[in-house]
Amino acid sequence: MKPVISLHNVTLSYHRHPAVHHVSGTFHAGEATAIIGPNGAGKSTLLKAIVGLIPASDSMVQFHGIAKKDIAFLPQAANIDRTFPISVLDAVLLGNWRKSGWFGGVSKTARAEAEAALIKVGLEGFGPRHIGSLSSGQFQRVLFARILLQNSPLILLDEPFTAIDARTTQDLLHLIDHWRYEGRTIISVLHDYEQVKNHFSESLLMAKECIAWGPTTEVLTKANLQKANAMAENWIENAAVCHRDEQPQVEGAH
Ligand code: ADP
Ligand code: MG
Repeated sequence: MKPVISLHNVTLSYHRHPAVHHVSGTFHAGEATAIIGPNGAGKSTLLKAIVGLIPASDSMVQFHGIAKKDIAFLPQAANIDRTFPISVLDAVLLGNWRKSGWFGGVSKTARAEAEAALIKVGLEGFGPRHIGSLSSGQFQRVLFARILLQNSPLILLDEPFTAIDARTTQDLLHLIDHWRYEGRTIISVLHDYEQVKNHFSESLLMAKECIAWGPTTEVLTKANLQKANAMAENWIENAAVCHRDEQPQVEGAH
C-alpha cells in the first residue's frame, strides 16, 4: 500500500496542553480511514494540522504525491456560518475557486458542473435557494457537492454525519464509497462504529496519543475502545502539561 500522508511523532499543544501526543503512522493512498476516539481526543486538531490550519512542521506531517493545497476539507459542522447570504449554487461553486480564482468569474462549465454535483447529492433544482433555508441534512449535501466540484484526490471530513438524518447519511456514505472506487483517499472523523466497519477499511483510534492504527477489524476491538475511554476519563481528572519536548505552540487557534 502506498502512503499518502505520514505522521512522525506529531505533537500539537494549546498553551502547553497537548491535544495530540506523539502520534506516528501512515494514511494509505486509495483507502478510507476513519479517525475515532472520545471527545477531546485531538481528532479535529490532527485534521487541522494536516490541512495547515494550525502549524505543524513539514517533518511531522509529510505528504507523498500530493500538495497540501489540493486537499478537500470539510470542517466540523458547528463551525460553519449559515447566515452568510449566498445561494446553494454559489456555495457549491466555492469548491471551484482554486481553478477560477476568487475574482475569476464563473464559467458556464463551472456552473454546469455545480448543477451536476447538486443532482448527484440529491438536490436537483435547489441552486437558487438561500443556504439558510435548508435543513441541516440538505446543507450537508451542499457541502458534499462542493467537495465533488473540488475534485480532490484526498478528502478530509470532520464528523460529517453528526446531527444529520439517516437518509442523508446513507446517501453520503454511498458517495464516499464511490470516491474510494474512483481511487480517492478519504480520511474522516466518525463516531458510529457500524459506519466505520461498513465503509472504512482502516481506522486510527486516538486518545491524544495513538491507541491503534491499522485495518478496522483489528482496531475496533473491545480492549482498544476500553483503553481509549479509560484514558479520556483520566484527562478529566488531571489536565497534563507536556514538558517532554518543545513543540510549536498554538495560541488561540480554532
Ligand atoms: P476532538 O475533535 O477529538 O473532540 P479536539 O481536537 O477538538 O478533539 O480537541 C482536543 C483538545 O484540545 C481538547 O481538550 C480541547 O478542549 C482542546 N482544544 C481544542 N481547540 C482548542 C483551542 N482553540 N484552544 C485551546 N484548546 C483547544
Ligand atoms: Mg472534533
